[in-house]
Amino acid sequence: MNIRILGAHNVESKVTRCVSLLIDDTLAIDAGGLTSGLSISAQRKLKTVLITHQHYDHIRDIPALALNLSFNGKSVAVYAIPNVRKAIETHLLNGTLYPKFQESPATKPTINFKLIEPYKPQAIDFYKVLAIPVNHYDTTVGYQISDNEGKVIFYTADTGPGLLDCWQHTSPQLLVVDLTVPNRYEEFARKTGHLTPALLYEELIKFRELKGYLPKIIAVHMNPSLEKEIKEEAAIVVKTLNTSITIGHEDMQLTIERG
Ligand SMILES: [Zn+2]
Ligand SMILES: [Zn+2]
Repeated sequence: MNIRILGAHNVESKVTRCVSLLIDDTLAIDAGGLTSGLSISAQRKLKTVLITHQHYDHIRDIPALALNLSFNGKSVAVYAIPNVRKAIETHLLNGTLYPKFQESPATKPTINFKLIEPYKPQAIDFYKVLAIPVNHYDTTVGYQISDNEGKVIFYTADTGPGLLDCWQHTSPQLLVVDLTVPNRYEEFARKTGHLTPALLYEELIKFRELKGYLPKIIAVHMNPSLEKEIKEEAAIVVKTLNTSITIGHEDMQLTIERG
């Protein structure tokens, strides 16, 4: 399983993109930096996009992707829970802000919405996909992706603390986790459903108690203006837990070792 981080931040700029992960060139999770991170031809290789929740930084490139694919007669499957699909159809692909690519062309719509249900493993392309609720906005789901070689990744999506229930359902070799702000923003993080290095530390302790190991960890969704501080505080967590946490960046490539 090859993973490329197309976007590793919560804010877009000349050097940062919003969160999006690409697995083996064909499966994407979240559409933050999905089009700005891929060439036109690479976009046309996409088969599937999994969406974690409806916040703009995670769905924003769906219309741009659809426009590109429509010129090529291609379509893409977009998996989401019902309220997320509704938000995209109401606010983006609504025929006013942008065309209803989920209805056109009538014979083979460019966007093929598919339902994902929490806790129900689903075979998608070459993978087994499991959506697991996390603590963020309304229903937000993280995704566990397993391939047929036994390689497993879990992407938490945006999430605040309280992941013990979530940890019961996933045993990844690679954990891609929200690390939006440094420790002095803890109140903000708790209120808005995000993690600081200190909050992540507590969640990782629970994970290790439950599972007896810690996966390889990549942090994403950093606020670019606070990243230096986040990195310094993550280094303290690394020392205390005797594990590794890598701060993700745009175009970072990873391969998962078999567990
Ligand atoms: Zn969010
Ligand atoms: Zn976000």
